[in-house]
Amino acid sequence: MRIVLVGPPGAGKGTQAAYLARNLEIPHISTGDLFRANISQGTPLGVEAKSYMDAGNLVPDSVTIRMAEDRMEQADAAGGFLLDGFPRNLGQAEALDTYLKGKGISLDAVLDLEVPEDEVVKRIAGRRICRKNSAHVFHAEYSKPKTEGVCDVCGGELYQRDDDHEDTVRKRLEVYHSETEPIIDYYKAQELVVTIPALGKVEEVTQRAMSALGRGE
Ligand code: ADP
Repeated sequence: MRIVLVGPPGAGKGTQAAYLARNLEIPHISTGDLFRANISQGTPLGVEAKSYMDAGNLVPDSVTIRMAEDRMEQADAAGGFLLDGFPRNLGQAEALDTYLKGKGISLDAVLDLEVPEDEVVKRIAGRRICRKNSAHVFHAEYSKPKTEGVCDVCGGELYQRDDDHEDTVRKRLEVYHSETEPIIDYYKAQELVVTIPALGKVEEVTQRAMSALGRGE
């Protein structure tokens, strides 16, 4: 299966993507995670990406599209993938279509995670992420780890992303509305969009998504 996950920052894309990818046995490709890996390794790509990310802006398409395509070229993605955070604007969506067409393949679904905006802000402000595995996500109020600052799953250090501070979050939401939301109409025209209400327990949202993909229990 080839799936795209869209939704505002804080909709739970990363959390859902990790579960869905495991259930569907396809790799989870997150451009945000790829950028963060480059930042922590200090690569030139990471240095360039960081300035845009910390300001809440999108990293330029030229850099992002190449990075996403390189990742989709890897052997584990040959049978399918779950894209999380890519595409994020119309230029990227068109580039992805061209790439897939060139390979004679196509997307199966675009899952649109829907969450009210005030909820999004609350979720992000308290979000704490494990340094060792970004799928291990906690919240300072709603999903506290047993020991403050320590990941329950693997013992990694929990931290707040630089772009999760309030001003940056507002900017990211603005960018989401102006640049990312238009891709939902683009994919609606291709009849690929399934809207998933993303409030409620993580497992419930995953079940909704799996049913939408025809893989429900
Ligand atoms: P979230 O969905 O919570 O905003 P991500 O981890 O997906 O978090 O993305 C974090 C940041 O990485 C974005 O705000 C943006 O700066 C950059 N980024 C991620 N994916 C893309 C993309 N496809 N195009 C441009 N920038 C991106």
